[in-house]
Amino acid sequence: MIKKFKAINKAYKFRIYPNQEQQELIDKTIGCSRFIYNDFLAKAKDNEYKSYTKYSRQLPQLKKEYEWLKEVDSIALQQSLKDLDRAFKNFFSGKYNYPKFKSKRKARQSYRTQKFIRPSGSTNIEIKDNCIKLPKLSWVKFAKSKEIKGKINNVTVSKSKTGKYYISINVRQILKTIVNNNQGELGLDLGIKDFLTTSDGEHISNPGHLSKYEDKLAKLQKKLARKEEGSNNWHELKKKIAKVHTKIKNIRKDFLHKLSTRLTKENQLLVIEDLNVKGMLKNSKLAKHISDCAWNMFTTMLEYKSKWYDCILHKADRFFASSQTCSECGNKNPKVKDLSIRSWTCKCGATHDRDVNASLNLLQQGKLERGIN
Ligand SMILES: [Zn+2]
Repeated sequence: MIKKFKAINKAYKFRIYPNQEQQELIDKTIGCSRFIYNDFLAKAKDNEYKSYTKYSRQLPQLKKEYEWLKEVDSIALQQSLKDLDRAFKNFFSGKYNYPKFKSKRKARQSYRTQKFIRPSGSTNIEIKDNCIKLPKLSWVKFAKSKEIKGKINNVTVSKSKTGKYYISINVRQILKTIVNNNQGELGLDLGIKDFLTTSDGEHISNPGHLSKYEDKLAKLQKKLARKEEGSNNWHELKKKIAKVHTKIKNIRKDFLHKLSTRLTKENQLLVIEDLNVKGMLKNSKLAKHISDCAWNMFTTMLEYKSKWYDCILHKADRFFASSQTCSECGNKNPKVKDLSIRSWTCKCGATHDRDVNASLNLLQQGKLERGIN
């Protein structure tokens, strides 16, 4: 067993409830940040881009010219220059277009501020209970739906199109990862009957209460079809349906998060099929199930969590006929193409559960492709 420490960045998003005065200051800061970005972009256009360091030295002069810039969080203005610097670096890399001016209406309404510790030991950003202290704004109430773990790097304050305010707190977390050298290699067969089957023979089904809400949703939708469109009842039902949708989405997300965390933590190699989900969605019979199972979402989670927990996620060739091949002898049995066949016996005498066999093949294929014995 090897214990390793690994630092990761993570963001927590919450809604905040600034008072009238704070709202005005947030709006102003967003405006000033945009102004800085656009002003220096114009300068760069006139006589080529300098550097963040050069431009940030010009900030005090600019503040003398435009007094109102002094009213807002000065770190936010520096961060705006850093964003511009990033945009230019991206452009110089050749992969991105020349930076564009930020329009008042189209650009994301946000600014970013960074945490620092004063020589006295006090900090400019602090969290206490369900309040956050932000530069210039002082204490703002927020909907703290979960505990924030780790050290705060920076905070982005944003305003939605509907006028709601949010913060995204970026933290640095130190994770202790345990790498198991001998065990923890799994092939994962993503399925329809079970959400997932592992090469260890574990069948993992979708959470039971998910189907309860799916039934509820189906009933409500039937009901909706009978109501007159636009009527009060119709609107009521629409609202109810939206609520059930959210509930289903949350249950599924929670399930996928827990499962992907467990699998990436416990294993050092995971092999999945590189499914062409888009291609499969064209098949309407499977479409509902596939989108329901949320394979895409799950794969994405596995992708980033495998990095957190030092696990290799390997995507095996998607044309590899994993269910039809006997994992014992390698013989191919085309009859298994029929999805209704759940178990089968090979010529060599081995009896297979369809999905366990598929995941065993995936594991073997993945190891072969990576050159692991
Ligand atoms: Zn066989």
